[in-house]
Amino acid sequence: MINQIPVMRVCISCRKTYDRKHLLKITKDHKQGIMFQKGMGRSAYICKSKNCYSDSKIKKKLQKALKTFLEPEFIEFFEKEITSHNDYPYKGI
Ligand SMILES: [Zn+2]
Repeated sequence: MINQIPVMRVCISCRKTYDRKHLLKITKDHKQGIMFQKGMGRSAYICKSKNCYSDSKIKKKLQKALKTFLEPEFIEFFEKEITSHNDYPYKGI
């Protein structure tokens, strides 16, 4: 195992600091729009606690963090994405 220093990021919902690999990254990509875990552009991080991603204000918080407008459908994709990542075994990426 390579002992790397974890990159710490703040969850936009609970404001707690976590290792980046335990967070879901949402990026407003310059070309492709909103992306999960990839893309280049303004990014926001959210932890995988249900309290955070199912927070009724999460869309507003994301819109503010990403400085963009999110479609109403976004939240569906977002919940699917974050719950599927919850089951993913981490491979140390
Ligand atoms: Zn959180």
